[in-house]
Amino acid sequence: MRYEQQRAEIIEVCLRMRQMEFFLGTWGNVSVRVGGHILLTPSKVDYDVMRPEDLVVIDTQGNRVEGERTATSEKEVHRQIYVARADVGAIIHAHTKKAMAVSATALREVPCLVEEMSQLLGGAIPLAGRYVPAEQHVELGGEAGKVIGQKSGIILRNHGPVACGRDLREAALVAQVIEKSCDIYLSLCGPLAAREIPGAFVESERYRFVHTYGHEQT
Ligand SMILES: [Zn+2]
Repeated sequence: MRYEQQRAEIIEVCLRMRQMEFFLGTWGNVSVRVGGHILLTPSKVDYDVMRPEDLVVIDTQGNRVEGERTATSEKEVHRQIYVARADVGAIIHAHTKKAMAVSATALREVPCLVEEMSQLLGGAIPLAGRYVPAEQHVELGGEAGKVIGQKSGIILRNHGPVACGRDLREAALVAQVIEKSCDIYLSLCGPLAAREIPGAFVESERYRFVHTYGHEQT
């Protein structure tokens, strides 16, 4: 089995993210760039029981090249950011409370308020322009690949944050700074209007979760 060290590091960061309540259930996923390929967490496997061999290797076209499991259903978010940004070596997509709260508003960005944001994130945190449901993997990834620009972090609309780093250690720090920045910003704002998920997508997301989640291709 290749990439043993990277597999162990991914599992360790998943457990740490869960301990911090950055991951809930099996929501949240992690990847690292390994040579010309991408090593990703699998879909629908609990972090407590995740083994190194459960991780999946895909190529930059999205084809599975190693592993028995199905890659995370959000693999396109990871893949399209790696394709857009040669400097990104690791990505963490979390489901954190403050960033998710920001994701459900009409904000276009979280403004750059503190030095951690300018240094680590490259300034303001952009939000995706539109809501894309999880079942539309490729479109969701396309939105992420477009919005990331030269930033280290973005927030997917009505969804959650995506943190990028040169390595896993940096991506984990970016995930924490995104959450802290959203917390600071929300504490300074008055009440913000909520922007709901359109009704048709509520139904399709529920259907996917009950019937097909964990069985999607690759
Ligand atoms: Zn997600």
